[in-house]
Amino acid sequence: MIKDKIRQFAASDSFFDEFRRNGEIEKFLREKHSENTKLVGLMSIGTSIEHRDIMAVKIGVDHGRANKSIIYIDGGTHAREWAAVSTACYIIDRLIDDYNAGDKVVTYLLNRFDFYVVPVVNPDGYEYSHTTDRMWRKNKAILKGTDCLGTDLNRNYGFHWGGEGSSRDPCEENYSGPKPFSEPESRAVSSLIVDNKHRLMAYITLHSYGQWFLYPWGWTEADSPNKKELKRVADIGHTALNSVYGTTYKLGSPGQIMYWAHGFAHIPYVYCLEMRDEGQHGFLLPAKDIIPVGNETYAAVKAMAREIALTRRVKSNVKLKCIDSLGTDLNRNYGFHWGGEGSSRDPCEENYLGLKTQCSALINSMAPDR
Ligand SMILES: [Zn+2]
Repeated sequence: MIKDKIRQFAASDSFFDEFRRNGEIEKFLREKHSENTKLVGLMSIGTSIEHRDIMAVKIGVDHGRANKSIIYIDGGTHAREWAAVSTACYIIDRLIDDYNAGDKVVTYLLNRFDFYVVPVVNPDGYEYSHTTDRMWRKNKAILKGTDCLGTDLNRNYGFHWGGEGSSRDPCEENYSGPKPFSEPESRAVSSLIVDNKHRLMAYITLHSYGQWFLYPWGWTEADSPNKKELKRVADIGHTALNSVYGTTYKLGSPGQIMYWAHGFAHIPYVYCLEMRDEGQHGFLLPAKDIIPVGNETYAAVKAMAREIALTRRVKSNVKLKCIDSLGTDLNRNYGFHWGGEGSSRDPCEENYLGLKTQCSALINSMAPDR
């Protein structure tokens, strides 16, 4: 039987009754932000060739700490992969709803991570796939010397650019663009990543279809020194995904963006999920599958984020470790009138006294009897 809690249908779910246009998604994100201003931030990380905003939401509990670890998720790099867009929106919706409903795991996660979600990396292509060509994949770059349009954003990153799996022919679907980062959409994503490089713990890019769990392996050991760990966490995600409806994924080797994210930006956990199905509908997944795909993918993301937090001992904003000299006010940590007036037991406060007296290594090194 199905173990994971499957979302009950509610009035607000009508957003997930069908695949939405870019404008509807922007409106949805604005609503999520205005209904949850403390939990949800909204920003444009850049503009597309046709001047559409590339929107990102930030979901996390803000206790005033500026350097929380980040889990980055995106969808809609490839225009025709509508399920990737709907699933990114679904993950946003569930993180917010579950936090507001007091879900323990989500509370645990949002105390530790900021989730950055970009549901539509390629808004021009996504719109074009709705209005003109349902099977469109690339962005809408106008290229010199050809009538062919568009660059494959997934092949436009500046790490092993132009390598295997990409084409120099602008008429091909996997055209890598005239040069690395030639496209505003790949530049927007890469700036977000580079600007937050030291905080990024995981990068999960959503695609369809094929039911593949992809992570950087199969290249060289040097490119992915922790592939065993990547596989271990992928297995945990897969088990959680499978527990919802029994969907099975295969493991495989990914596209170029992931090598860039892992090999250049040094993000520890990098995954690409090629979601349902295995080809029966392919890119044309029926709208009735939006919520099921959302449910199982969300289960995987949640399980992986939890495992990463535990493995990496990602600090909560609430419970700081005693030895964390960032977290304790040293002036309140001496063993004389410890815990008295002017000190706080709240680790989020500036005058936090630490877990016990003289717990800081720095304090101990200064103590005369040591
Ligand atoms: Zn794709």
